[in-house]
Amino acid sequence: MKFRIGQGWDRHALIEGRPCILGGVLFAECNVGPKGHSDGDALVHALIDALLGAAGLGDIGGLFPDTDPRWAGADSLDLLARSWQLVQEKSYRIENVDCTIITEIPKISPRAGSMREKLAEVLGVGANQISIKATRGEGLGPEGRSECVTAMATVLLSTGLN
Ligand code: MG
Repeated sequence: MKFRIGQGWDRHALIEGRPCILGGVLFAECNVGPKGHSDGDALVHALIDALLGAAGLGDIGGLFPDTDPRWAGADSLDLLARSWQLVQEKSYRIENVDCTIITEIPKISPRAGSMREKLAEVLGVGANQISIKATRGEGLGPEGRSECVTAMATVLLSTGLN
């Protein structure tokens, strides 16, 4: 068996008047949300880049350019499903996914289980193969000032092919 590792990083500004969707979960109580051409789901974007990186398929900007009106307001889970399809076509399987979200708002940990289930459903894996960790900016930098949400993801793929 061969393994391939990939990492992804994304950051979106948090602004008023946007739905707050992270890890495919809507935080309806949050009065700010990630700004973006799509729904701005930084966690899912980081995960997409990790998957594409591991498979050597480029990056999210290459697949879904923010200049393309087709992706305006896109559901990032749909972008994830499309990306995962391309990765599967190269005969890769997911071993595990590990994600970290850095944000002051919303509070992630009570909803981390819902995020894991949502992502596992799209990827067709067990929720136990997906880890979501959350940390805060501790008052430092743009995350600490609640100006943005930042997310990182690492993915390990395996394949029986050489
Ligand atoms: Mg993004």
